[in-house]
Amino acid sequence: MPQTVHRLIASTGQKLGLSGFQIQELIKSDAKHRFKISLANGKTFNAYRVQHSNKLGPYKGGIRFHPNVDLDEVEALAALMSLKTAAVVLPLGGAKGGVAVDPKNLSPDELEELSRQYVRYLQPYIGPDKDIPAPDVNTDPQIIDWMVDEYEKLSGDKSHASFTGKSLHLGGSEGREAATGRGGVIALRELLMHENQAARKLTLALQGFGNVGSFFAVVAAAEQPHWQIVAASDSSAALYNPAGLKAGRLQEYKASGGRFSEWHDDDSKIIDTQDLIKLEVDVLVLAALEDAITEDNMGDVKAKIIVELANSPINEAAQKYLTKQGILILPDIIANAGGVIVSYLEWLQNKAGEHWPEARVNAKLEEYMVKAVAEVYKTASAQDLSLKEAAFLQAIKKLTG
Ligand code: NAD
Repeated sequence: MPQTVHRLIASTGQKLGLSGFQIQELIKSDAKHRFKISLANGKTFNAYRVQHSNKLGPYKGGIRFHPNVDLDEVEALAALMSLKTAAVVLPLGGAKGGVAVDPKNLSPDELEELSRQYVRYLQPYIGPDKDIPAPDVNTDPQIIDWMVDEYEKLSGDKSHASFTGKSLHLGGSEGREAATGRGGVIALRELLMHENQAARKLTLALQGFGNVGSFFAVVAAAEQPHWQIVAASDSSAALYNPAGLKAGRLQEYKASGGRFSEWHDDDSKIIDTQDLIKLEVDVLVLAALEDAITEDNMGDVKAKIIVELANSPINEAAQKYLTKQGILILPDIIANAGGVIVSYLEWLQNKAGEHWPEARVNAKLEEYMVKAVAEVYKTASAQDLSLKEAAFLQAIKKLTG
């Protein structure tokens, strides 16, 4: 994944006539914080925060708790954040954080201690006008609440604007939890509109049913009744039902700790996770992790449109191959920008001491997403680029302008 991101930045930079030095500057991070967290019981974990660029505003980016987290991954994800905030025109920079841990192996007390320790180390480097972290894979409002509390104890700040993705009672925004999934629905709807396919009945397969994937499914079911999600996967299995899956029920099932491999509430077929991308569907939505599609499985894809809801779910070779096959890829830095857009709205509310109704938040999200997709589509059409290249081009122009 780091290679995919860096090579795309380099090739786009070359298209824009940037020098080798300018490209290296674009890839380079401003600061890399690498530290160890030791819990009272002796367990030790590697932790990271990479601040990539604050050229357009304070650093912004999620914190991931996952066993595969390492410095290279966090660095690439931080660069992707700078590109994302630039592509959707937010006055924010890019950062990313993570801890190499499987939170399923921690007790609730250990998880709280880990979250608080993470902030104890980083407190001098983060804050409402410096670097504003948010949730990502395996981090949720509860974890963010512990982090805000720790930050405020250490710094005396009471604005709650030091983190986004908080619980509502701590200054979280209405609509934040659903924002990335909702943004993905808007982005796909807009792409279909530009492609003159808005009214078409569509079948979709959805890889990953966590925060992002489940809300994509629930919002799509409510607002796009002519889209039918026929398959969805978590890390245990995929469910397939040509008559359509029930998004709301699946979300409740996952929230109560269910695994798709143990699903038996209806006659959906349980298939292997790897078989989901082979399905004959119109749209494949990737909402799990990076490098889901590589040289190993790119030939299996049957969908004509892919939505990158996860960060960097298609590696460089697969991007090239799928684009050559005429498959439209709605790129991550646009498709999943709903999360950072509503994070920005949450931060604005905290700064102003306001709490907006969900309708106002969603209307603003809609505005940003519609504009971003239109611009990328226009650039891609005008310059004969893929949507990915167009999105990177737009972002890099802003970062170097
Ligand atoms: P999450 O931990 O809530 O969900 C991840 C889901 O992927 C889980 O359902 C997990 O079971 C599933 N999964 C993991 N490996 C899989 C596999 N091999 N096959 C099928 N499913 C698999 O994480 P999330 O917050 O939903 O994030 C998902 C992706 O979206 C990540 O790439 C993240 O960086 C990106 N993202 C998240 C946000 C956000 O607001 N949470 C914003 C932008 C981008």
